[in-house]
Amino acid sequence: METRLWHPFANMAEVKDKPFLVDRAEGVWIYDTDGTRYLDGTAGLWYCNAGHGRAEIVDATAAQMRRLDSYFTFGDFSNEPAERLATRLSELAPMEQARIFFTTGGGESVDTAAKLARLYWARRGEPQRVHIVSRRHSYHGTNGFGTSLAGIEVNRDGFGPLLSDATRVAHDDAEDLRAAIERIGAENIAAFFAEPVIGAGGARPPEPGYLEAAAKICAEHGILFVADSVICGFGRVGGWFGVERWGLRPDLITFAKGVTSGYLPLGGVAAAGHVADVFWEAPGSLVAHGPTYSGHPTVAAAALANLDILEREDLPGRAVELERPLLEALLPLREHPAVADVRGGVGLIAAVELDGELLAEHKGIAARMQLAIRERGLIVRVLGGSTLVVSPPLIITEDEIGVLGKTMAEGIDAVL
Ligand code: PLP
Repeated sequence: METRLWHPFANMAEVKDKPFLVDRAEGVWIYDTDGTRYLDGTAGLWYCNAGHGRAEIVDATAAQMRRLDSYFTFGDFSNEPAERLATRLSELAPMEQARIFFTTGGGESVDTAAKLARLYWARRGEPQRVHIVSRRHSYHGTNGFGTSLAGIEVNRDGFGPLLSDATRVAHDDAEDLRAAIERIGAENIAAFFAEPVIGAGGARPPEPGYLEAAAKICAEHGILFVADSVICGFGRVGGWFGVERWGLRPDLITFAKGVTSGYLPLGGVAAAGHVADVFWEAPGSLVAHGPTYSGHPTVAAAALANLDILEREDLPGRAVELERPLLEALLPLREHPAVADVRGGVGLIAAVELDGELLAEHKGIAARMQLAIRERGLIVRVLGGSTLVVSPPLIITEDEIGVLGKTMAEGIDAVL
């Protein structure tokens, strides 16, 4: 079968003849069209925090669709599920008087946060504050601003001129951020974007003290601190917005993925009161920005049901409980000749980085390992052609984590 579906982040020349069709899913398992089951070691694309097949989310979604399938929230229009979800997220967000702007995914949320940050300064009489600083290895989606901010270089290549007012700093050294601010001038910088745990750029937990120091430097210079918690939110690294364990109180937070556990597409930006008030307390100040499906009632109903599950089962707490077992299941691979590093230990995200010499000698070896691991019943992702990453649903058991570690090792061994 030759597909007509253009897959994201795919080399279609290789994929077009053999798409891997996923047919159904339950709990931590997905099934292909032959009925073969695989442990979902990645929770889809880092989103299925509550696990697959939750009837509660399906029922809430269907009930909402029967009542009001969809309607826009432009201007003064609103709907109850979106209102309830915004209130609930506002109460959970680690910021004062948070206001919630809904989008349909992470990339749109990053672009929304970047535009809000710039507009915030323009409305405050400092329109020259347009520069945005991000970190090397960071991933902020593939929309306009997110592409410009990408710290994964290949994600910027080939698209022509991007934002010229963007700078990337070292991902683990707050002094590099300070130096960049001195170079660019704080008076020209709107915001600093940081993923609490870097996801797609290699599953990199922050160095101890780094995030706190970076937030402090931003505060000293009046630069808006934006936490991109698209992966880290809704339990993945503990807490609701993926920043609580470092005591951060960002000015803006982007979220998506786990907010619905991926059952329907939803993203958003939480804006602290002192940011939102610049717009909310100024009559006549239109913010000319917003996607059609912002505040979609059916999607909001799915998110509310998902939050009920995450809360009732304390899945954010469970992610913290299981972060050591997940890391320990992979740590023996550190001794493996094919492996350069094993990272993890902060939430349910972990990575196995392959040895540089091995990668240079054997082109495409990470993809072959990924396939060998899949043939043994486990889904993992390859990042940057060099790193195998896992981020299982937060409902995974310790036994299943054991299976995950063992299968990963067997798949790696099978290729060497
Ligand atoms: N920001 C981060 C940190 C992400 O990991 C992602 C996606 O993986 C995005 C933004 C973009 O989200 P989306 O793919 O929903 O546009």
